[in-house]
Amino acid sequence: MHEYSIIQALMGRVEAEARAHGASAVVRLRVRIGELSGVEPELLSSAYSMWCEGTICDASKLEIVRVPAAWACPECQRPIPRGERLRCASCEVPARLRQGDEIFLDRIEMEVP
Ligand SMILES: [Zn+2]
Repeated sequence: MHEYSIIQALMGRVEAEARAHGASAVVRLRVRIGELSGVEPELLSSAYSMWCEGTICDASKLEIVRVPAAWACPECQRPIPRGERLRCASCEVPARLRQGDEIFLDRIEMEVP
């Protein structure tokens, strides 16, 4: 399961952060998931709750922020509206993805005694 390996990688970083701060528990996580990242937020959530049992994240909440795909022209920076051809009409160059393929750990809230 793709989402499970993402959670594993994510949690490695969360645990390292928690350890570095001497945290007793992780309260909340926020991740940004791009529309084109290939991640299903629902699967990610269930992988998360499976993974968290008995860890420092046991009582934590996972907040998933979905990031829509956004394209722009790499030459004139004109944003390409949704549903349009992924090519700049004036520069005749292919559009470049600006956002929407990320899997990004945005924020960790933890309890530090
Ligand atoms: Zn252009």
